[in-house]
Amino acid sequence: MDGKTVRMYTCGPTVYNFVHIGNLRTFTFQDILRRWLHTRGYMLQHVMNITDVEDKIIRSAMAEHKTLKEYTEVYEKAFLEDADALRLQRPERLVRATEHIPEMVSAIQTLEAKGYTYISEGSIYYRISKFPEYGKLSHNDFSGIRAGARVDMDEYDKADARDFVLWKAKKDSEPSWNEPIGDGRPGWHIECSVMAMKYLGETLDIHAGGIDLTFPHHENEIAQSEAITGKPFARFWLHAEHLIVEGQKMSKSMGNFFTLRDLIEKGYQPEVIRYLLASVPYHNKLNFTFDQLKAAGTAIDRLRNYKLRLDSNTFSAGINEKLVERTAAAVKQFDEALDDDLNTAEALAAIFEYVRDTNSAMDSGDFHEGNLETARALMERFDSIFDVLRPTVRQGEITDEEIEGLIAERVNARKSKNFKRSDEIRNQLLERGVILEDTKEGMRWKRK
Ligand SMILES: [Zn+2]
Repeated sequence: MDGKTVRMYTCGPTVYNFVHIGNLRTFTFQDILRRWLHTRGYMLQHVMNITDVEDKIIRSAMAEHKTLKEYTEVYEKAFLEDADALRLQRPERLVRATEHIPEMVSAIQTLEAKGYTYISEGSIYYRISKFPEYGKLSHNDFSGIRAGARVDMDEYDKADARDFVLWKAKKDSEPSWNEPIGDGRPGWHIECSVMAMKYLGETLDIHAGGIDLTFPHHENEIAQSEAITGKPFARFWLHAEHLIVEGQKMSKSMGNFFTLRDLIEKGYQPEVIRYLLASVPYHNKLNFTFDQLKAAGTAIDRLRNYKLRLDSNTFSAGINEKLVERTAAAVKQFDEALDDDLNTAEALAAIFEYVRDTNSAMDSGDFHEGNLETARALMERFDSIFDVLRPTVRQGEITDEEIEGLIAERVNARKSKNFKRSDEIRNQLLERGVILEDTKEGMRWKRK
């Protein structure tokens, strides 16, 4: 709105379990969005909530005889570890619902004063018939809804569209807050309205989340926020489509339900998973298959080999002007694809076509020293968004510095004709998954 800073709110995880790859698809898309906005010169003020009080959390915490905090902190930590493994940039602010109860109470009081609420059995409900625009985001027709019918659950489907709960009266031994509006706890939807507006103002630039949040969650956020302020809540809504697995809906009972940890345990590198999650534009369904995961690994290898060639080959002096133009065209295609509502598939296609052309130019000796700088800059631009070229170093794995150190020692060993030591180092590196290649341009290395 101010031409400089994008104020963005994204619905974060409900920390009752490890997040699954469907959730991570949404968070990866948001990371790509962040990075692209940044590349295009915007500053970011991005807020993500951590939902740490909600139906599922309360059920699970009570079953394990834990407080909300004891229960949720484990999964909050796990979420942040997963996000780091996938190289997701941290939002400027991560905010917990339980740390904003007074603000939620005051928002509910404002809604009460404006006549949007009513009380039933101690709980406070939002009267959706008071907000005629209800349904404008999800384009659902709610005209047949019976006034006064209520729903207490945090999550429900379209068929259940009824007045939703803002403040739930304390039941049995559930955790609760004793507030002027009653002894109870907030509903899920009010959390996001309150935290978004507290940190980003009454109208956000972007609100994003998974497609399944469109209804009821985001519809309810709009109803609450716009009833309070009388202003549009968000200028742009961006929703990541569903992820399905091998053509099927992901579900625990189908045995096709995966967390990041499950896939890493199967031997897949986090950056390979990141690549696959990012490769399909967010507004399309993503069919996650193990064939595609393998293909993602191969794609990354191709790019790494190309980069290795750029970094280690020696090229003849001069500059190939045609190749300079080719590079400029690739940059333009890449940028235009991402400008087009983050068309990541097109952006990747631009890079692979370019790499193919440049590899052939190198093969035929048409790539010169003067072409290096722009070629490298394009790969850097690509990787500043997709971030897959750097291999993840697993715990106990040899680091780049250790590898470089051993290689330097090997070079010295060879100079002093100590071929025994030179071979030892080569084997030692091989055992640790590092391949040395002596090429006519010199020595280079890569991880297996
Ligand atoms: Zn939300």
